[in-house]
Amino acid sequence: MLLQTKGLTKSFGGLTAVNNVDFEIEKGKITAIIGPNGAGKSTFFNLISGFHPPTSGSVVYNGTDITPLKSYQIAKLGIARTFQTTNLFEQSTVLDNVIIGHRLRTKSGLFDAIFQTPRLKREENECKEKAYEVLEFVGLTNLADMPVAGVSQEAKKRTAFALALATDPEIVFLDEPAAGVNPEETDGLAELMKKMVTKGITVCTIEHKMQMIMNLADKIMVLNYGKKIAEGTPEEIKNNEVVIEAYLGG
Ligand code: ADP
Ligand code: MG
Repeated sequence: MLLQTKGLTKSFGGLTAVNNVDFEIEKGKITAIIGPNGAGKSTFFNLISGFHPPTSGSVVYNGTDITPLKSYQIAKLGIARTFQTTNLFEQSTVLDNVIIGHRLRTKSGLFDAIFQTPRLKREENECKEKAYEVLEFVGLTNLADMPVAGVSQEAKKRTAFALALATDPEIVFLDEPAAGVNPEETDGLAELMKKMVTKGITVCTIEHKMQMIMNLADKIMVLNYGKKIAEGTPEEIKNNEVVIEAYLGG
């Protein structure tokens, strides 16, 4: 397996947002995490991507314990993510957002920036090329020069995908990628996720849209009050009593 959590736990004061979660993600699959609001889904991603240190438990990636690593170190290992609220620079263009995002994750330090070193120039060109490549991949070439503020929610979601892909990740974690987009656009984003998989990228997504996830995921984990209450294929999840109870309020 590509990534594994063991007893992963995060407490905020008295609240245990993620509670002793054992989970495995297989390479080349689409894995989904579902659960009611406040179930701990985003926190689970924050723990894996190093945005919060866990209270206990561990994250193992490609056989290496990455729990102690910082978020930028984890990103460098090939783990990318998007955020639930797209944190884009609204006044900058779609292209510049991808370039900036890419540059933030590449190596040049302050020295290169101040002295405009050849390495910086080379990296800038690489960033630009990469940005065009990922914009093409996500279908945004025609909006590259639009300010983010002027594009649709769907295009913002695609921009967030592009940002994640610009780092050439092995696995991407998508936090509610289809939130706030219409059904037709949702289908388009699902297609894009499948396309990522054909390029060898493993996808783990948090999603509220049940229909979408049932048609898309190879495996689903259900979180409720921080705990894993079920996992299995879409078919297994659909018929799971515990899940039905959690969703319908029992
Ligand atoms: P979900 O993404 O499933 O809706 P979250 O992971 O965002 O849920 O939140 C799980 C719980 O943890 C919620 O009760 C939320 O209020 C709490 N929580 C999340 N982040 C923090 C934080 N940084 N500080 C305190 N409480 C938090
Ligand atoms: Mg969330």
